Amino acid sequence: MTGNGENGQPSTPCRTCGKAVAATSRHAPFCSKRCRDADLGAWFNESYTLSRPITEEDDLDGLEPPPEENISPPPPESPEDRDPWK
Ligand SMILES: [Zn+2]
Repeated sequence: MTGNGENGQPSTPCRTCGKAVAATSRHAPFCSKRCRDADLGAWFNESYTLSRPITEEDDLDGLEPPPEENISPPPPESPEDRDPWK
């Protein structure tokens, strides 16, 4: 019989403060309701501020003007340039 892990409750580090929390804890994977609220608030804030400016800047980057190659192609050969002294 191998009771390794059954005897001591599995624990996980609190996502907010890193403190060991029993997996069976009421607030797991957080050590307390306070840490859970803090993490939720931070996560929500981060995703909210991250997703907004990125999409707008992405659109601006897509409006970049085309490279100069497309704007000024090489001049076509003209008969005058071929034999200027003839
Ligand atoms: Zn905590």
